[in-house]
Amino acid sequence: MAKILVVEDNALNIKLFCDLLTAHGHETEPVTDSRDAMDAARAFHPDLVITDIQLPYITGIELMEMIRAEDGLKDVPIMAVTAYSAAGDEERIRAAGAQAYVSKPISVMRFAETVDQLLAESSGVKETSQD
Ligand code: MN
Repeated sequence: MAKILVVEDNALNIKLFCDLLTAHGHETEPVTDSRDAMDAARAFHPDLVITDIQLPYITGIELMEMIRAEDGLKDVPIMAVTAYSAAGDEERIRAAGAQAYVSKPISVMRFAETVDQLLAESSGVKETSQD
């Protein structure tokens, strides 16, 4: 089980993502207003952050840059979810700090596999902490 912060402004999408993660045994913290995302991340101590890119107020790119700039959060893996994947988008998303991204509408299987993969890759880091 992992703690997963999910930032997504679309109510149907965030319900889908959280239902899917909960069904896989994870604990989720949903955030629909990106302005609340950093405070939620600091309080929740997520093992993984999933963020939409197209967000009002603070974009997913800006949010990833803020997470990467914060000592307590900078090593948390990030999976981006985006409705657009034009040429250059993947590079921009990875440069902002995402280890992986999936396109919307999501493939449920690819979404779940990517989550599992990121959690497995970061488990070596988690073992050195006290939880
Ligand atoms: Mn959005």
